[in-house]
Amino acid sequence: MSSVQYSIFSLLRNAVRDNRGWTPAWRKATPAPRYDVVIIGGGGHGLATAYYLARHYGMRNIAVVERGWLGNGNIGRNTTIIRSNYLLPGNLPFYEKSMMLWEGLEQDINFNAMVSQRGVLNLIHSDAQRNAYARRGNAMRLHGIDAELLDARAVREKLPFLDFDNARFPILGGLLQARGGTVRHDAVAWGYARAADRLGVDIIENCEVTGLRIEGGKISGVETTRGIIAAGKVGMACAGRSSQVAAMAGLRLPIESHVLQAFVSEGLKPFIDCVVTFGAGHFYVSQSDKGGLVFGGDIDGYNSYAQRGNLPLIEDVCEGAMALMPRIGRVRLLRQWGGIMDMSMDGSPIIDRTPVDGLYLNAGWCYGGFKATPASGLCFAHLIARDEPHPVGTAFRLDRFARGAVIDEKGMGAQPNLH
Ligand SMILES: Cc1cc2nc3c(=O)[nH]c(=O)nc-3n(C[C@H](O)[C@H](O)[C@H](O)COP(=O)(O)OP(=O)(O)OC[C@H]3O[C@@H](n4cnc5c(N)ncnc54)[C@H](O)[C@@H]3O)c2cc1C
Repeated sequence: MSSVQYSIFSLLRNAVRDNRGWTPAWRKATPAPRYDVVIIGGGGHGLATAYYLARHYGMRNIAVVERGWLGNGNIGRNTTIIRSNYLLPGNLPFYEKSMMLWEGLEQDINFNAMVSQRGVLNLIHSDAQRNAYARRGNAMRLHGIDAELLDARAVREKLPFLDFDNARFPILGGLLQARGGTVRHDAVAWGYARAADRLGVDIIENCEVTGLRIEGGKISGVETTRGIIAAGKVGMACAGRSSQVAAMAGLRLPIESHVLQAFVSEGLKPFIDCVVTFGAGHFYVSQSDKGGLVFGGDIDGYNSYAQRGNLPLIEDVCEGAMALMPRIGRVRLLRQWGGIMDMSMDGSPIIDRTPVDGLYLNAGWCYGGFKATPASGLCFAHLIARDEPHPVGTAFRLDRFARGAVIDEKGMGAQPNLH
């Protein structure tokens, strides 16, 4: 059964048939004995990789194996923010490529992912921070990326309800990337899954990889809870569980797994029309189309593989919210959850070969990997298909930690709680 092609006609056809004619968005594939490429992890990055492998690199015999249900990981748990407001040379072209792919994604995969370029505003609370953001904005502009430095008056006009005259954290301005914004996260997983499925990719859910088969230094397949699957090449896109899966090949990664929580409030009338980040603490917020405030803050601060967070961090995030917007003090929290973050030691990702021939690694996304989904998929597909890095992904080498060539985006040291 092939998945449906969405169009105005299919909408009308199904509307008059009481919506009984829709077919599943992707097949429930069962494992074949062998694939040319097996991608481990049915999150955003794994699915995007499979899609671009089939779409741009002409490969068809591909499987994505996912231990749970599709989209159970961070792709369905993030706060949906996309942006390309980076500073360092390795990151800038990569994240801008991602932004450009977001801009054409819905047409590309024929799926409404609710890409909303509502703007991302980083608030400034000190003169030193203004200098840092001016530098960042200049770096962005030099790479052809939009950036605008706003003074306090311009921010006040845009978001008059912020606590501008807070004695500790006065708001002095902000760095705006107008093309940044939000994308409906699960729709990204569903859209890539459907588009990959239409190109013949097998998406195999409830299939956990429990071992990697390596013969003579070369990958030959994966052991799973649904049997052994032979593979010419294997790509790991396991986000928070990257270290566990890489360990199956005897690899020790420069990655720690930490919990990051997200929060949604009850529905409110629209009052925030962009994404706002608090520059004096760690708090960021946007408002969903249903009216809920979607927000988050720091990681929980201890290593964990639990997909849930703890109360002290909830208090910390709410303190950040209150410092910025005291008016939301009586708003009720509707939902809260956690995801497992693959925190790299310099805050930047890894898209690279491994010492095992035919085994590739995509990891280290910290809490910024959602915005990277399209470019990460494209670069990982390029690497797997051609055995060389994509031109915009050349910086994300695994050996940069050994070489001391880290990409320390915030210049804050090698501690996951400081990125
Ligand atoms: C609360 C929160 C807020 C965030 N907010 C943002 C944001 O606003 N903007 C942004 O850019 N980023 C954000 N992120 C980060 C972003 O979500 C992640 O960096 C990104 O989603 C990771 O890539 P992924 O989608 O492939 O991960 P995942 O969806 O986690 O995919 C990895 C998959 O691998 C599977 N897997 C693991 N081990 C195995 C195995 N042995 N066998 C088979 N399958 C396996 C997992 O089940 C999982 O489905 C946030 C993350 C969280 C948790």
